[in-house]
Amino acid sequence: MTKTEGYLDHAIFKLVGSTARELGVRAFVIGGYVRDCFLGIPNDDIDIVVEGSGIALAEAVAAKCGAKVSVFRNFGTAMLKYKGIEVEFVGARRESYDRSSRKPVVEDGTLEEDQLRRDFTINAMAFSLQEDDFGALVDPFGGIKDLAAGIIRTPLDPEQTYSDDPLRMLRAIRFATRLGFNIVPESLDAMKRMAGRLKILSRERIVEELDKMLLTKKPSTAFRLMDQTGLLEQFFPELVRLKGTETVDGKGHKENFSHTLEVLDNVVLFEQEAGREPNLWLHWAALLHDIGKPVSKRYSPSLGWTFHGHEVVGARMVPQIFKSLKMPLNEKMKYVQKLVALHLRPIALVDDQVTDSAVRRLLFDAGEDIEDLMILCNADITSKNPAKVARLRRNFELVKEKMAEVEAKDEIRNWKNPISGDYIMELFGIEPCNTIGQLKEMVKEAILDGVIPNTFEAADAFMRERAAELGLYPHD
Ligand code: ATP
Ligand code: MG
Repeated sequence: MTKTEGYLDHAIFKLVGSTARELGVRAFVIGGYVRDCFLGIPNDDIDIVVEGSGIALAEAVAAKCGAKVSVFRNFGTAMLKYKGIEVEFVGARRESYDRSSRKPVVEDGTLEEDQLRRDFTINAMAFSLQEDDFGALVDPFGGIKDLAAGIIRTPLDPEQTYSDDPLRMLRAIRFATRLGFNIVPESLDAMKRMAGRLKILSRERIVEELDKMLLTKKPSTAFRLMDQTGLLEQFFPELVRLKGTETVDGKGHKENFSHTLEVLDNVVLFEQEAGREPNLWLHWAALLHDIGKPVSKRYSPSLGWTFHGHEVVGARMVPQIFKSLKMPLNEKMKYVQKLVALHLRPIALVDDQVTDSAVRRLLFDAGEDIEDLMILCNADITSKNPAKVARLRRNFELVKEKMAEVEAKDEIRNWKNPISGDYIMELFGIEPCNTIGQLKEMVKEAILDGVIPNTFEAADAFMRERAAELGLYPHD
């Protein structure tokens, strides 16, 4: 046991220790908090394991300090909020598993038994809160050593560990990605054999892990590991289909899986460079931006490989994928779908003569998500040829400047039609009908094409002329 200083300064630890003593039980800090202490990562989530009732200890501690406590009897846990931290109490358990589910048979146990059922050695360390050895590290599996070496390892046989609870495979990959650690080879091998066990997990649990992976600094690592171990195939076959490249007449095409992962990492980097908070949904959009490519792939001797319309096919696949992962089909899904659909538009402007109207149309279609789209599109510039990337990025900057110019002039981004349906009905004394929509559409097109400026006066005059052609005149 190693003595540790400074990690247990918060008043709660002494209080839990002395209260446990009064109740005649032993209590320990365990898991993520202990790990993060040694990594120097701040963590406000404290897990306390008690050799006895976690709920009874939590209630006794709460009674002393006047903190709020929530009790979850079904789980045998209690959560206490105190001076900005959350402390979860649970009784030490011993577990045995039934093969058909993640639901273990749980019995009361000792600290050692509880540590044995933890997922990784680095997550199984505990600090004693007993008076006589307060702060002593209890580390039966060499978590400290693995932490120093940057290794993810299970305390028990990995195959058994992953079979018992397959979520641990995804957790291993998530921790490896977040911390930049390596999963030991025998653990990776066990994952390959146990990949099929993922089927007992709910999609919601899987997606929770995916989201956390997507929010790491280098999400590509997680997706590569999930692919290599065969986990990805279990719940995300559409991504696996991006893999590989074909050659015909000596012509190959981009390897779309690696490309997608590069784009994903780029998005994370560019967000950071722009001083933005990571946007999970932008990361999802990066992950799915080329998802329509395998279906759209064609070869012709004259054009070589093409993926025409892959953004349209991809956008159509987004709701299907969300549905298969049991993710809500809400406005976040629509946002991802929109970015997938539009992801080629900004870069297309690079090669064209950038006309104001093309820029206005893009601003109109992207609306308030234009900046996110620009990050995605810039991230999408990848090539083995650095000179080509540099040239495209430079041109891309020109598109951005042009966009800022047009936006400053025409304010299309949050565009509202200056002509409303009510106004048209009142002006011509007519009831709701198709003509109203047609007139509004003509105004919109004229503004986006730059036929008239984006002002009420111009729009009103234009609309009156078009109405006159339809035989409509203002009534008095
Ligand atoms: P994070 O920073 O992501 O919260 P954490 O290690 O605290 O990391 P939690 O999910 O909060 O992760 O779990 C707390 C602790 O419970 C872990 O450190 C680990 O000891 C244990 N644990 C969590 N999930 C599992 C699991 N599926 N199997 C075994 N032990 C687990
Ligand atoms: Mg935690």
